[in-house]
Amino acid sequence: MTNQNMVISDAKSGLAMAIAVALKESGHFSPAMPVVSPNGYFSRKKLHKKLEANGNGARMNALLDSMRASSPTRRPTDTEDHTSWILHHPSALSMFEEIMRASQGKQIVVFLDYDGTLSPIVQDPDRAFITTEMREAVRAVANLFPTAIVSGRCRAKVYNFVRLSELYYAGSHGMDIKGPAKGHTHRTGNQTVLCQPAREFLPMINEVYRALMEKIKHIPGAKVENNKFCLSVHYRCVEEKKWGELGDQVKMVIKEYPQLRLTQGRKVLEIRPTIKWDKGNALEFLLEALGYAESNDVLPIYIGDDRTDEDAFSVLRERKQGLGILVSKTPKDTNASYSLQEPLEVMKFLQRLVEWKKLSVLRH
Ligand SMILES: [Mg+2]
Repeated sequence: MTNQNMVISDAKSGLAMAIAVALKESGHFSPAMPVVSPNGYFSRKKLHKKLEANGNGARMNALLDSMRASSPTRRPTDTEDHTSWILHHPSALSMFEEIMRASQGKQIVVFLDYDGTLSPIVQDPDRAFITTEMREAVRAVANLFPTAIVSGRCRAKVYNFVRLSELYYAGSHGMDIKGPAKGHTHRTGNQTVLCQPAREFLPMINEVYRALMEKIKHIPGAKVENNKFCLSVHYRCVEEKKWGELGDQVKMVIKEYPQLRLTQGRKVLEIRPTIKWDKGNALEFLLEALGYAESNDVLPIYIGDDRTDEDAFSVLRERKQGLGILVSKTPKDTNASYSLQEPLEVMKFLQRLVEWKKLSVLRH
C-alpha cells in the first residue's frame, strides 16, 4: 500500500488528508515521503517550511489547504491518540514536583506567550483580555523570577492587555524587545528598549499594511492587524469558502516584496521580514541580556500554544535546557516537552511556581 492510499483510507484524520493534498498540490508529494510520522502526526512545521520555501511558485490551492490544516475546525479526539500524546508530553501540573526537583539551584526565567496562553483565543483579537486573577499570577511570578511576554502582537498592544511594568516584553515575534520599567528587580542595565533587529523594515511594513487593508476590505470578517514589525491577517471570522480568495489577495500583495515572508498561525496569516529572527531568537537574546548565555545554572520555562512558539521550544531542545510547555487540549506535533490544557491551567502552574519558590526560600 502506498503512503497516499494509507492516508486516504485513514478516515479519522482529516488533517493528514489535507496535508497530503497540500503536499501533492505543491509538488512536494513523493511516495517515499512519509505523510504520517511514527506518532501519527505529520510535522506541520516541515510542511509549512516547504510551502513557504516554494515562494512565488507555490500554488494558491496549496496555501488554502495549508490554511485549513493550520486551523482545523475539528481535530482528532481519539482517546488512544490523546493518551499516547500525553505520555510523551505530560501535564506540567501533574509533573510539577519532578520538574522542580530537577531545577534545584538554578535560576528560573519565565517566558510566556500571550494569546491562547494567558488569554483565551477569542473571535475579535482586540478583545483578548487577561483576567485579573491571571494578571496577579503573572505579577507574582515576575516578582520572583525574570519574566517575559513573547508575542506576535506589537509590544504596545500586549502591554495594554497585560499592564505590568515589571515584565520584559518581546513584541512582533521578538523583533521588538523592551525591559522592565525603572525601579523593578530583574532589570538589566539602563536601557529599556533592548533590541529592534528589523527597524529598517518599518516603512515597508506600513506600505504593505495599507495595501492589504485595501485588497481585503471586501472580504467579510477579514482583519489586518499592524503589529509594527509584522502584520497579521486574521481569518477566524471569515467564512471558509472565502479563505481561498483571502489567501490569493495576500499572496498577490506580498509577491512585490521579496524581503517579506508569509507564515501561519491559528487562523492567521503572518507577514514578516525575512530576517532570521523569531521567538527562539528572542528567548536567546533575553537569556544573554540577563547574563545566562552560556550558563548551566539557568532554567528557562517557555509556555506557548502556537506554531510560532515552536521556534522557542526548539531552542530549549537544542540547548538541552529548560522546559517547553505547549498549551493545547489536543495532540499536536511539537518540540515542547510538557503540556497544559488551557490558560486556566497556565495560571495554576504559575501560582504553583510562586508557592514552590516561597516554600523553598523558607526551607533554606
Ligand atoms: Mg499564542
